[in-house]
Amino acid sequence: METTVLKIGGGILRDKDCFDRVVNIVKQNKENGTQQILVLSALYGVTDFLIESTHKSLHSDKEIEATIHKLKEMHKQYIGFVENKEVKEKAEFEIDDKISILEKFLYGVSYLKELSPRSKDMIQSYGERLSPIVLEAILNDHGVDAKFVDAEDAGIYCKGDFEKALVEMNSTTKALHENISPLLKENIILLPGYYGIDDAEVKTFGRGGTDYSAGVLANVFSAKLEIWKDVSGFMSADPKAVKDAVQINNLSYDEAEELGYLGAKILHPKTIAPLREKELFAEIKNLFDPDKKGTTISGKKDVCDLIVKSIATNKDIGIITVKSSSMVNSPGFASKIFRKLAEKEIPIDLICTGETAVSFSVNESDIEAAAEQLQSLNDTIPCTISSEKELAMIGIIGECMKDSKGIAGKLFTAMGENNINVELISQGASEINISFVVNRNNVDKAVEIAHKTFMGE
Ligand code: ASP
Ligand code: MG
Repeated sequence: METTVLKIGGGILRDKDCFDRVVNIVKQNKENGTQQILVLSALYGVTDFLIESTHKSLHSDKEIEATIHKLKEMHKQYIGFVENKEVKEKAEFEIDDKISILEKFLYGVSYLKELSPRSKDMIQSYGERLSPIVLEAILNDHGVDAKFVDAEDAGIYCKGDFEKALVEMNSTTKALHENISPLLKENIILLPGYYGIDDAEVKTFGRGGTDYSAGVLANVFSAKLEIWKDVSGFMSADPKAVKDAVQINNLSYDEAEELGYLGAKILHPKTIAPLREKELFAEIKNLFDPDKKGTTISGKKDVCDLIVKSIATNKDIGIITVKSSSMVNSPGFASKIFRKLAEKEIPIDLICTGETAVSFSVNESDIEAAAEQLQSLNDTIPCTISSEKELAMIGIIGECMKDSKGIAGKLFTAMGENNINVELISQGASEINISFVVNRNNVDKAVEIAHKTFMGE
C-alpha cells in the first residue's frame, strides 16, 4: 500500500477551520487507501511563545504561572470542539500532564538562573509534544483512527549539537520500522517534528526543522512527501517586491536546497538530503486550495524552458573586508580568518578573495562580533578590517544556468544600466546560483530588474 508523509506546518495549525480542513484531507486520503504519517509542527505561535517565556523565566519566575495558563489555553481551545467525552478528557489530561512537566523546566531555568542549549531544546520540544495531542483528539472525534506516537516511543534518534542536530538514520529507520510499521495498517500515525533523542538528551533540528523531520520520515518509509502550508509553493520572486512573480511548477533537489539556504521560507533546506538519497518526490500543498498543483521537487531533470527559476533575497547582510599587502606571500592567512570566525560560530555566506583582500558576507547581527574577533589577526600580519552594514544578498537560481552562456553578463549589465551598485559577486561555486550583494535600499528594485531580465515583464 502506498504511504504518504504529510507535514502539517504551524502556520496552518491556527484555527478551527484549519483543523477541519486537515481532517477532510486525511479522510479523503484514507478513502483512497493511502497509508498516512502526519508530521506536525507546534501550533501556530507556540514555539515563539516558548522561546520568549524561557527567556523571561531566566530573569524571574513571576510570569511562569501566566505562561502555563496561556499554553493550556492555546491548546485546549481546540479540544473544546471535541464532542466525544472520552476523547476530550483524555486529550485534556495529556495536555495538563505534559504542561506540568514543562512548568518544572521553566522553574528550573528560573531558580538556577541558567539557560543552556540543552534546556532550550528540551523546553522548545514541548510545542511538538503538544500539537499532536490536539490533532489526534480532533481526528478521533471525527471517527478517524489516528494515533500519536512521540519521538521517544517511535524512535526518532539524532546526533550532533543542540539546536542543529541531525537524525541518526540507521537506528531511526530500524526503530520506526519496528514501532510504526505495524500500526500504520490500521491507523493514521501522528509524529512530532523538530526534535529527536540522543541517548537521554532531547535535541532540536533548528527552527523550521519539522520539514526536515518529514523528509526523514519520507526516506524511512520510501514515501511521497506533501508539505502542507498556507501557500502553494515557491515563487519566482517575492510577490511583495515583484508584482509579476509567478509560482514555480517544479524544482530540482539542488534548486530547492539553494533557495532554502538563500532564505526562501517555503521549505527547510535540510529536508532535501533525505529525499535526494532515495529519489523521492515532494510537493508543496496549500491547505486553502488543496486541489491546486503546488511546486513539486524531484530528481527529474528540467526541460530548461526557464533558465532562471527564482530569485531569493536575504535582507540582513553585512560585509567584512580584511586588507593586507602582506597577505600575498602568507599561505594560510585566509584559513586564519575563517578559523577565527568559526571559533565564535559565525557563519559566512559569500566569499570573495583577491591578492591583497578578502571580503565576505555575514548576517548583519554578527558583524560587530566578527570584526572584533578578527582584530587579533594583526598579531601575525598587519591588516585593516572594515565592515559595511545595511546590505542585502540576492541569489538567482536555476539548474539550466549551468549550460547557458552570458547569464552573468546580462544580469550585471542590467544592474549597471539601472544604476545599481553591486558590492560583491559570487558565481560558480554551486553552478546553479549567482549571488550578489547590493545596498539594502536597492534590493527590491534589483530583484525587479533581475526578474524582468530573465522572466519577462
Ligand atoms: N516549531 C518549530 C519552529 O517553529 C519547528 C517547525 O515548525 O518546523 O521552528
Ligand atoms: Mg514552522
